[in-house]
Amino acid sequence: MRRIAIVGAGQAGLQLALGLRSEGYEVTVVSARTAEEIRSGQVLSTQVMFGPALALERAAGLHLWEEQAPWIDGLDLCYAAEPGTPTLSFSAPFDGAAQSVDQRLKMAGWLELFEERGGRVEHRAVPADGLGPLAAEYDLTLVAAGRGGLAEVFTRDERHSPYEAPQRTLACVYLHGVTAPERHPDAVGPRMRVLATPGAGECIVMPALTLSGPCDILLWEATPGGPYDCWQDRPGAQALAKRSLELMRTYAPWEYERFAAAEPTDPQAVLFGSITPAVRHPVAEVAPGSYVLGMADTVVVNDPIAGQGANNAAHCAASYLRSITDHGDRRFDRPWMQRAFAAFWERARHASAFSNAMLAPPEHVARALNAASRHAEVAHRFANVYVDPFDAPEWIMDADRTEAYLAAVGRP
Ligand SMILES: Cc1cc2nc3c(=O)[nH]c(=O)nc-3n(C[C@H](O)[C@H](O)[C@H](O)COP(=O)(O)OP(=O)(O)OC[C@H]3O[C@@H](n4cnc5c(N)ncnc54)[C@H](O)[C@@H]3O)c2cc1C
Repeated sequence: MRRIAIVGAGQAGLQLALGLRSEGYEVTVVSARTAEEIRSGQVLSTQVMFGPALALERAAGLHLWEEQAPWIDGLDLCYAAEPGTPTLSFSAPFDGAAQSVDQRLKMAGWLELFEERGGRVEHRAVPADGLGPLAAEYDLTLVAAGRGGLAEVFTRDERHSPYEAPQRTLACVYLHGVTAPERHPDAVGPRMRVLATPGAGECIVMPALTLSGPCDILLWEATPGGPYDCWQDRPGAQALAKRSLELMRTYAPWEYERFAAAEPTDPQAVLFGSITPAVRHPVAEVAPGSYVLGMADTVVVNDPIAGQGANNAAHCAASYLRSITDHGDRRFDRPWMQRAFAAFWERARHASAFSNAMLAPPEHVARALNAASRHAEVAHRFANVYVDPFDAPEWIMDADRTEAYLAAVGRP
C-alpha cells in the first residue's frame, strides 16, 4: 500500500489523513504538538465553517460535534459611516447553516481518532531542511503546516498576491454570557454579526462551541493605525474583554449591553496576529528531483475577514483526497502535484479574490451593500458569497456585472 506523509495536524492535514486511512493508505502525520497540547493550548481561529465544508466533514464521518455546536443561520451586516451610527444594515440566511467548533477541541479529537484508526503520528516540528529526508521515505509528502515557517519553502506567486503587508491586525476572545439579539422568526440559530466602520475595521461576533460548551467569539479586524488597533500589549482574556467593551461603547453601542456581563471562556481563549494574504507556488523541490506538495494555508492564505481559510482547508483536503485516489498506483510526480493543486485552486481562487476585495471594498461593492439593505434578494446573494465564493465573479468582483445585476433587481 502506498505510504503518505502529512506535515501538520490542522483542518487540512487531519481531514486528508483521516480520509486516506478510510481508503486504506498507510499515513503518517507529523505534528508539532500532541493532542493534549492542542487541547490545552491557545485558541487557533474563529473557524466558522459554511454548509459545503460541513457537508464534506459529514460525508467523511468527521462531524463529531454537530449536535452540540450552535447553528449559525446567516449574516447580519451593518455599515457605520460614522462611529456608532449605522448607515445601512441587512440580515440574510445562509443556504445551509454554518458552525464553528473550537479547533482545539476538533483537532485534538481528530488527531486521537486518526491514531485509533491505525494512523501513525510523529510528534516533532519538521524543520525546512527536514522535508528532503521525509520525502525520501514516502511515496508522497504533503505540507499542511499552516501559515508558519514551512510556508517559506514555497515561493510566493505574485500574480495572486496583491498585498505586501497585513491589511488588518487581529484580536479575538471567546466569551460566555453574551446575550443574543432577537432571532429572525425562521432562523435555525443566531446569525453571524459583522459591523464595518471605515478607518476602524470590522467587529465580528459569531456563536461557537468551545471546550466548556457553547460560547460567542468576538473578533476585531483592525485597520492598522486605527482605533481598533490597540492590542500591541497583548492583554490577557479578561483585559481584552474589558477593552472590547470600551470600544463597543463608541463603535457598537447596541452590542455594549449584550457583552456587559460576558466572561472569557478560559485564560487561553485569546488570539492576536496579522496575516499577509498570499498565494504560493504549490510544489517545492526539497532535494534534487524530490518534491513536496503544499496544502491549504501553507500555499493559499487569506485574511479571515470573510472566514474562508478553514473552509478552504476542508475543500483542499477533499480535493487532494480525490486526486490521490484517482491516481491509483502511478508515481506522484511534479506534474501530478501541479494538477492536484489546480483542481483545488478552481475554488480557492474565488475565496482569495473575495477575501482580498473585502479588505478594501471597491465602490461597486459599497453600492451592492446599499442595495442589499433595500432588497432581500441582494442581501441573500451577498451573504451566500461567503458560503460559495464561486458566485463572486458572477457579479460582485466586477463593477459592470454588479451594476447589471443591481439594475435587474431594481426593475419592477
Ligand atoms: C483570528 C482568525 C480567525 C479565523 N477565522 C476563520 C473563520 O471564521 N473561518 C475560516 O474558514 N477560517 C478562519 N481562519 C483561518 C483558519 O483558521 C485557517 O485558514 C485554517 O485553520 C488553516 O488550516 P490548515 O490546516 O491549513 O493550517 P493550520 O490550522 O494552521 O494547521 C497547521 C498545523 O501544522 C502544525 N505545524 C506547523 N508547523 C509545523 C512543523 N514545522 N512541523 C509539524 N507540524 C507543524 C501546527 O501546529 C498546526 O497543527 C481564521 C484565522 C485566524 C487567525
